[in-house]
Amino acid sequence: MIKVVKFGGSSLADACQFKKVYDIIKSESERRYVVPSAPGKRFKDDIKVTDMLYDCYAKVSKGADFADAFKPIKERYNQIIADLKLDLSLEDEFSKIKTCFEARAGRDYAASRGEYLNGIVLANYLGFEFVDAADVIFFTENGSYDSQKTMDKLSKRLEGVEYAVIPGFYGSTPNDTIKTFSRGGSDITGSIVASAVSADMYENWTDVSGFLIADPRIIEDPRPITAITYKELRELSYMGAGVLHEDAIFPVRKAGIPINIRNTNAPEDAGTMIVESTSQKPEFTITGIAGKTGFAVVNIEKDLMNSELGFGRRVLEVFEKNGISFEHMPSGIDTMSVIVHLEEFAKKEQEIIAGLHRNVHPDSVEIESDLALIAVVGRGMKSNRGTAGRIFAALAHSHVNVKMIDQGSSELNIIIGVQEDDFKKATKAIYDIFVTHRL
Ligand code: ASP
Repeated sequence: MIKVVKFGGSSLADACQFKKVYDIIKSESERRYVVPSAPGKRFKDDIKVTDMLYDCYAKVSKGADFADAFKPIKERYNQIIADLKLDLSLEDEFSKIKTCFEARAGRDYAASRGEYLNGIVLANYLGFEFVDAADVIFFTENGSYDSQKTMDKLSKRLEGVEYAVIPGFYGSTPNDTIKTFSRGGSDITGSIVASAVSADMYENWTDVSGFLIADPRIIEDPRPITAITYKELRELSYMGAGVLHEDAIFPVRKAGIPINIRNTNAPEDAGTMIVESTSQKPEFTITGIAGKTGFAVVNIEKDLMNSELGFGRRVLEVFEKNGISFEHMPSGIDTMSVIVHLEEFAKKEQEIIAGLHRNVHPDSVEIESDLALIAVVGRGMKSNRGTAGRIFAALAHSHVNVKMIDQGSSELNIIIGVQEDDFKKATKAIYDIFVTHRL
């Protein structure tokens, strides 16, 4: 049995957290490959090392003196090393980094040093081999992740290595420059390593005991999700449920490796299991609720639109030409609505209205903003009759006006559009009906 374990920034923020991580890893010999993030926040207003590095490199780019910005970064690591009483000095590494900063090695290089240095410290503390991600995680020349090359090199590199630390978040391009994934990308590295070593489990250790059914900022003390499928999670993460980087699902999903989200500060909690498929019956009809505000609807009306061949295509062409992707497109006989992200859309709004008039000659085009979308997700909905009915009854009782409904063909989710002012009320009504009252 092989487990790949990834620890987030808050799990490695100081020596006290490092000790918890040590105990977790050493308590199971299957926990063989460790992927660390850079040290995160120790307290609410603390600054993550990654952010300090970005800030420091911004000074480098301006040609300003960066010694003062680099000092607190060094201190964070030196403090951890001293508190753990390690026989390790990073002075050589610090001077190499300074030299590379002076040579303008790039913003990604700068950010990646957070994970790189933390990997060296953690490997030393655990007595594991350090494997630099630059030698095993690859990007193509145009900057996209190179799965084939990575899988090939990474699995070969780890073949004879029983225990190793591979820093998260970055890799290298064919011309040997360092490139990072997007923020929170150590989750992706963990998933890649799990896939490369054909792990039995990818444990992702963070500071919460897994996913919750709803956002705790809206619902007080929501119930945890014990098991969720990749597909369900994809729907929920897309709609804003945090915890795991959206792209971290793909590498393990391909290999059918389950992900277990665990809490470094409460290792006794089972956390959330993310699986391909499960016979485990969900506790409630719904697995989770997630939502986002900040959408706009473009309502297009034209008499006899339904009989005009290619109408929809010509509408979408206008959005495409302006680089705006659409979220949903509910339609009536003579109406069609296109739902878009307001922030993106606002910049192109007038071009799009003009384009629609040119392309489809509508009777009217109207824009409504302040729309929120709520996704109600659950594999249990397929086998349960009346789920939609219960959702809408609950919303009606709470005096929430439903502006849009979209049920995917998978019957895995129902998306509901409501006015932004009703967003929290609607989420609460849905949570209560399925979870609090277990209907
Ligand atoms: N340290 C990086 C960040 O703050 C990557 C990560 O933590 O996953 O985004």
